This record gives sequence, C-alpha cells and structure tokens, in this order.
Amino acid sequence: MKRFLKRVLLLLVILSVVGFGLLASTFTAKKIDVEVYTGDSDRFVTDEKFDAAKLPETTLSIIKCGKMMSKEAFVYRGGSWSETYESGMAAALIRHPKATFLFDTGFGINVDEHIKTIPALMQALTKYDKETSAATQLQAQAISPNDIKMAIISHSHWDHISGLEDFPQAEAWIARDEEAHIRTLPDRELVQQMKGKIKWQTIEFTDGAYENFDRSLDLFKDGSIVLVPLPGHTPGSLGMFVNLRSGKRFLFTGDVTWCIEGEQIPAERPWMARKLVDKDEEGVRRSIVKVHKLMQRYPELTVVPAHDRRIHNKLANFPAVER
Ligand SMILES: [Zn+2]
Repeated sequence: MKRFLKRVLLLLVILSVVGFGLLASTFTAKKIDVEVYTGDSDRFVTDEKFDAAKLPETTLSIIKCGKMMSKEAFVYRGGSWSETYESGMAAALIRHPKATFLFDTGFGINVDEHIKTIPALMQALTKYDKETSAATQLQAQAISPNDIKMAIISHSHWDHISGLEDFPQAEAWIARDEEAHIRTLPDRELVQQMKGKIKWQTIEFTDGAYENFDRSLDLFKDGSIVLVPLPGHTPGSLGMFVNLRSGKRFLFTGDVTWCIEGEQIPAERPWMARKLVDKDEEGVRRSIVKVHKLMQRYPELTVVPAHDRRIHNKLANFPAVER
C-alpha cells in the first residue's frame, strides 16, 4: 500500500512538473507566422488621387481616464515577467467639421460599479486606478457632455464603454457583427445592463476596399475618418483610421493587441489571456497580421492599440490636439 501511495505521489509530481512546463511554454516568445495570412493582408488598394491637403480641418486628442497594472508577460508572448505593464484606459476625441465625437469612452464616472460586472476571478486579478473621466475632463474645458452626440465603439467590452453613460446625448455606434454578438452575452455584462440607457446604432462597412481591408466605412465621405473591421477579439471589433490635413495618419486598433509590440513583432497574447478574452484566436491573428502589414507599408502611420499608454503619452493629450 505504501509503495502504491509513493507511486501515486511520484506520478502527481511528474504531472505537475510537466503541466507547469507546458503552461510556462505558452508565455515564451513566438512570432505569428505571417506567411499563413499573406494572401489576405497583402492586397492593398491605394487611392492615387488622395491628397491630405484637401482633407477638412480635423483634430484628435487622447483623453486618459484610468489605468490597470499587469505583468508584461500577460500582455504579449515574449513579454517580460519582471516588467510591469501600465495598461491605459482612454477615449479619443475627434473634432471634425461635421461632428465632435469619441472613439471608445475609457473608464467612466461609475467605473467602480462597472468593474463588478466582470467575472469574480478577473476582478480578483484586476488592480485599477481611476483617473479623471472623459466627461469630467471635457466639462473642465467648457465642452458639455451633452454636446457629444456620437461615440464609435471599438468593441463592447466594459472597459471601452464604461464612460458611455456619462454622455446622455451620444449614440453608440457598433459594427453589425458586434450587435449580433451582444445578443449572445449574459445579463451580467455591462453592455447588457446599458441596453436600455444607451441609443445603439449599427455600422455597416458599405464603402468597399480600403488599404488592405475588403470593406470599410468612410464616415464623412471625405477620407478623414475611415472605419475598418478587425474581428477576432470580439466578432465586431473595428479599427479607425484618422487622416489629418497635415498628412499625419493614425490607426486605432482597439484590443487586437494590448500593446504595440503585438502588432510590430507580430505576437499574440499568451494562451491564458487568449482563453480569457478572445472570441476567435485565429481571427485575432489575421487582424494582427493586417495591422502588421500596414505598419510595414507605412512606417509613418501611428498605430494606437487601445491600452498602450506609451503610445498615448506620445500623442496630444486633451486639451492639446493633433492636427
Ligand atoms: Zn480593452
């Protein structure tokens, strides 16, 4: 009997060591095999007549509203275990002659309530710091939250919509595939709880190919703001190009990756993070490679992952503007 117990114990030790080794291996550096997605992401359509000087006067500001801390190792494959990653929560404010609107809304005034809508395990793992909400920052500069009539939402996760209810006049625009996805979510999700409070509108990508995307929506039909599908993290995740008259170009990529290294290397989130947050891992890889190819083709394009505070810090923070 004693020998049997010893054997069971030994087996358990071996299994734990193997299990731990396997888990550790899911965090090691591994580049996405770009070749697998080449056909899809290498077909660029370029508008030969595009002339930035003819774009309308549009400005862009980042509004930082909060942050969350984690180990860099959880953010992308190959990230360091010793480095802390400061995950920024932010809205972007775009002022175009036809509309002043937000892209995502960051942590809102009621973020302490909103965080209770995420699973208990994630709440336990999450340490967050509130900063000043977008609505409060706008108000301090004499912009009433009531003046914001539109928010484009990269995807429906709580950390992107928390600030929505602080803008009572804003319609929230989401991709059709996101709308369908939301219908499948449990009642506990913040987006479900906001259902009655928010006016939701549907984005259709009706403007055909743009850069290496098959479909797009040129929001004001002037080439300044172009929305593109970046599915995977959620089915209706989207990205936004901002093309300014100065020639500066930005691409907001939501949560395709949590940091710029993900799109540069390119590298996905480690397995554990993917299992927790990504709806379609293969879709995420496809979207990552699309952005990666854009970065290769346009080295001057500023790619803005939703949570990369190092990028946010390099851009004009509200009330300063990029123009
Ligand atoms: Zn997020």
